Amino acid sequence: MAALSDFRLLRPASAADAVRLRGEHPASRFLAGGTDLLPNMRRGLVTAEAIIDLGGVAELAELRVVDAALHVGAGVTLATLAADPVVQARLPALAQAAASVAGPTHRTAATLGGNLCLDTRCMYYNQSEPWRHAIQNCMKIAGDTCRVATKSDRCWAAFSGDVAPALLALDAEVQVLGPQGSRRLSLADFYRDDGMAWLSLAADELLVSVRIPLTDGWVSAYEKLQVRGAIDFPLTGVAVALRREGDLIGDLRVACTGVSSRPELIGGLESLAGKPFDDAALALVEKQIKRGTQPMETTVINVSYRRRVTPVLAKRLLRRLWQAAA
Ligand SMILES: Cc1cc2nc3c(=O)[nH]c(=O)nc-3n(C[C@H](O)[C@H](O)[C@H](O)COP(=O)(O)OP(=O)(O)OC[C@H]3O[C@@H](n4cnc5c(N)ncnc54)[C@H](O)[C@@H]3O)c2cc1C
Repeated sequence: MAALSDFRLLRPASAADAVRLRGEHPASRFLAGGTDLLPNMRRGLVTAEAIIDLGGVAELAELRVVDAALHVGAGVTLATLAADPVVQARLPALAQAAASVAGPTHRTAATLGGNLCLDTRCMYYNQSEPWRHAIQNCMKIAGDTCRVATKSDRCWAAFSGDVAPALLALDAEVQVLGPQGSRRLSLADFYRDDGMAWLSLAADELLVSVRIPLTDGWVSAYEKLQVRGAIDFPLTGVAVALRREGDLIGDLRVACTGVSSRPELIGGLESLAGKPFDDAALALVEKQIKRGTQPMETTVINVSYRRRVTPVLAKRLLRRLWQAAA
């Protein structure tokens, strides 16, 4: 990897200061744990003349329960999140997803905000400069060809963060601060299906916090497929949240990562509310996952395997949760 190029380091003390500095320095980037940004800068994937270090912004480190919801500041580390007793007891999918990111050392620095704003990934993009130069680069960094789908007019890089699908299944919303003030949006609306512009966040907007409802009666879980047991992005990952009403499904949400340019909340499952948990229900889950995701050749495992294994993970989790909820 190449050395980091020089940059100015700016240290805001508040979220408002961070947004102001971002506006004043158009060629800057927010830095949280730096576990994605800094490797990307060393690879020449990201350039920045100034780095806005969010480490001193106290409001981003808040983690508290307010009005039957957990509020997590964007600067809370994944290690803290995974070990939090409320998260472990009430939001197990979130605890499991946070604990599955990279390795223990990364998780002590890596933050929730950095994980949700993670750059999209592709085997033609996440390479050294000489490697990329040898293939004349790709659309995401330079030029107009997506190496994954050379005839396509869009970039197919995949969103591969572990935590977003868990939060989608748990019905989270995010709070964002920009020069015009603060706004709230559902986590689903925070993402766009575009490998180059995957966040509906303006460059000078800061992700401040995530709100997750603590609703009784739900069980949840997250599982990912990875080449190695640790320090590996998901080739595909699935989060499931389920509410059981006796022998019937009360409610069900499924979300996936690694298989589209955004984390996908799987649509078309509302009709399962009030239905029995049987083969027909699981067949619908499989059909909707296949319909709602589009794995491409962005990673080392082939597309047809990832297409088949994603619903397998979902159905396995659902069977487990159904028993647990009895
Ligand atoms: C070897 C290795 C293995 C990894 N494995 C995984 C894995 O298994 N799963 C996984 O999900 N990730 C993995 N990662 C990626 C990364 O470590 C994590 O996603 C981590 O959570 C990123 O958080 P961070 O705080 O370090 O983000 P940073 O690197 O600081 O930031 C990431 C991006 O988010 C932006 N950003 C950060 N905070 C905010 C904010 N509050 N508002 C707006 N923008 C913001 C930054 O500007 C940057 O563009 C891995 C990385 C490495 C190096």
